[in-house]
Amino acid sequence: MKINTDVLIIGAGPVGCVIAERLSNELNLKCKIIENRDHIAGNCYDAYNKKGVLYHKYGPHYLRFKNKKTYDYLSKFTKWIEGDYIVKSVVNKKLYSFPINLDTLENFFNVKLKNKNEAINFLKKKIIKIKNPKNSEEVILNKLGRQIYDNFYKNYTIKQWGISPKKLDKSVAGRVPIRFNRNPFYVNEKLRFMPKHGFTQLFKNMTKNKNISIIFNTDYFKIKNKINVKYFTIYTGTPDRFFNFKYGKLDWRSLRFVFKTHKKKLIQECVQYNYPNDHKFTRKVEIKHVTKQKTNYTVISKEFPTNNGDPYYPIINKKNLSKFKKYEKLMNNEMKNNIFFEGRLARYKYFNTDEVIESALVLYKKLKKTYKNLVKS
Ligand code: UDP
Repeated sequence: MKINTDVLIIGAGPVGCVIAERLSNELNLKCKIIENRDHIAGNCYDAYNKKGVLYHKYGPHYLRFKNKKTYDYLSKFTKWIEGDYIVKSVVNKKLYSFPINLDTLENFFNVKLKNKNEAINFLKKKIIKIKNPKNSEEVILNKLGRQIYDNFYKNYTIKQWGISPKKLDKSVAGRVPIRFNRNPFYVNEKLRFMPKHGFTQLFKNMTKNKNISIIFNTDYFKIKNKINVKYFTIYTGTPDRFFNFKYGKLDWRSLRFVFKTHKKKLIQECVQYNYPNDHKFTRKVEIKHVTKQKTNYTVISKEFPTNNGDPYYPIINKKNLSKFKKYEKLMNNEMKNNIFFEGRLARYKYFNTDEVIESALVLYKKLKKTYKNLVKS
């Protein structure tokens, strides 16, 4: 039996939901979403466990906004609670502020540093000057020196990515802020909010329009020939798969989570403890610190990085980027067939959630224009 739809969307993650919402509510188009998993929201998915604790199934999502417009858009589908994301790093069994800030430097080096100038002066003797840092090792050595690199970054990065930091673009370790003040928050953005009733509820509210229907537990490539699309296809999966691995496989890093429920109000001091040098897992997350749920139970998750499993992280380095560039050409070429690619997987980009929503809104504008032209002609 054929499936007829105005718009076909592959993937019910943030991009798929935003596109479906915009096209159904603004342009009154019928959207069919095909999703591999049995739920919406992609890796933002959160759910209540048997004890009623809300947990993030695919790792913590600390929502923050670079752009107020993205926040305003999402505000149509959720109320918010403040997002105070505080992370500590456990080094030699001691908890340190992370990202590195004045407190971390003082406690780690056992010195007093009054301000930014004193910190920079102090670090002058420690840093290894590199003119144009190119990789995730050089970028940290150049800013913080060998001791901080070795204790806080090196082994975490090796564990997280399974390769040397030298083989990773500088943007990877470089995405964590480095501060010479006492700001303890994990991210720099001032607009930090969590959806009051969770991410899944937010995306459910977003996709309420009767013109949106979702087929779960379905591999798009198995039913592709059965679908008639009138206007657009939006693909949010991995590009190598879409093009039948024409240029070979792109590398992805995945995670395995181990969750444990405890009959305790709270266990950790803050939402996340990083373990750069101990254990096989990278971090322990107690998401209740940010969901602020009122319950007598709490959940701790441990994250074990792995090469097997669903693709979570693009591995940003020269080898993968040059392969991706070839796929990108093919993707651009598909635009003439009204097939569009967006999202962390399709764009092979280390996007944060707000960035992904923003890029979906930009794509919507393009689709709207194209649609107006299509119906005119
Ligand atoms: N990183 C590190 N030590 C830490 C935390 C992060 O070396 O304690 C590096 C590591 O390479 C990591 C990258 O910074 O992959 C980005 O960290 P972030 O916390 O942003 O990763 P995500 O939350 O996206 O997994």
